[in-house]
Amino acid sequence: METKIVKAFGTEALNVPLHVMNIRRRELQSHDVEMEILYCGICHSDLHQIKNDFGHTMFPIVPGHEIVGRVTAIGEHVTKFKVGDLSAVGCIVDSCGKCEYCGDGIEQFCDEGVTFSFNSPDKYLGGATYGGFSESYVCNEKYVLHVPKTLDLASAAPLLCAGITVYSPLKHWQAGPGKMVGILGIGGLGHVAIKIAKAMGAHVVVFTTSPSKVEDAKRLGADEAVLSTDAMQMERYARKMHFILDTVSAKHDVNTYLHLLKPDGSVVLVGLPPEPLEINAFSVVSGRHSFSGSNIGGIAETQEMLDFCARHNITAEIELINVQQVNEAFSRLQKGDVKYRFVIDMASLKK
Ligand code: NAP
Ligand code: ZN
Repeated sequence: METKIVKAFGTEALNVPLHVMNIRRRELQSHDVEMEILYCGICHSDLHQIKNDFGHTMFPIVPGHEIVGRVTAIGEHVTKFKVGDLSAVGCIVDSCGKCEYCGDGIEQFCDEGVTFSFNSPDKYLGGATYGGFSESYVCNEKYVLHVPKTLDLASAAPLLCAGITVYSPLKHWQAGPGKMVGILGIGGLGHVAIKIAKAMGAHVVVFTTSPSKVEDAKRLGADEAVLSTDAMQMERYARKMHFILDTVSAKHDVNTYLHLLKPDGSVVLVGLPPEPLEINAFSVVSGRHSFSGSNIGGIAETQEMLDFCARHNITAEIELINVQQVNEAFSRLQKGDVKYRFVIDMASLKK
């Protein structure tokens, strides 16, 4: 297959800082869209993968799955986009399209395994897919999203992963009026979750380990914010919560949060701590509690989320950086030193 060489920012090996490299993009297929990448968010999943936290990183790796761009070319059968349109790609760039789950719009659970925008087997070129820390992306139009014109493009980029990852479970577990919804961990995912849960009409309670985020959570729209390291404050919420969305990226005690649920309440994990979590029998048995999980969201739901965010004027709070600052950004993200999402201005890759 014909390929096009494009500039990217990635690394060939563990513990080697990311740097400029050349990668190949496939020639445009009849249903493909090619886009110039304008902005790309930095998610904690990018950090987990470059550290090989889950043991399945395929090097060389080019991270990035919160991609906003502009269409530069289209295949002959493309109908959803024209050259010059705003466009976006999130986590999913391919799936079988035939199984029960693709049919239900939950392509992330495709029977044949979904293709992610980076670090997934590339069906066209072999090797791994390369993500959005690059000049351009090529993808079947089915997996390309429309970016509502009213959204600021740089701060909308994190919606493509952080946004859908929290929107999908909040909707599935029916966050809304009359519901006490907890958000655990106020990072990239958590801060967007506050805004989305609030827009859905829920009463939002934030649980954070960071004293500096207690007040800030209210600025972001939370009704209440609790320092989770303060046992006295925590006890006030025992049996109060219908639902808690857990976005924590490292090992933590989920029993503490199961204890805050009303009978029949759920703690839903979207964070990906690399180590197993322990659950005490009584944390779930008492109160018929559920501990569950959720993984990103399907393509139609991602578009629905973008349109919802446009209606409610929701974007991420970002720190815009140049691609040359990516390694520093990863070490700050590791320390929790970002309010609340790094986004790369991809024009800097041309420098
Ligand atoms: P992030 O910006 O680093 O935020 C994570 C937050 O978790 C931190 O800001 C901190 O919040 C809290 N935290 C971190 N370490 C902690 C610890 N040891 N104990 C307690 N709290 C801690 O990360 P993110 O980009 O939001 O991603 C969060 C997690 O979700 C990552 O594991 C990521 O890989 C995963 N993820 C999953 C999906 C999915 O589909 N399931 C999609 C995207 C990302 P406070 O300072 O408020 O305590
Ligand atoms: Zn992500």
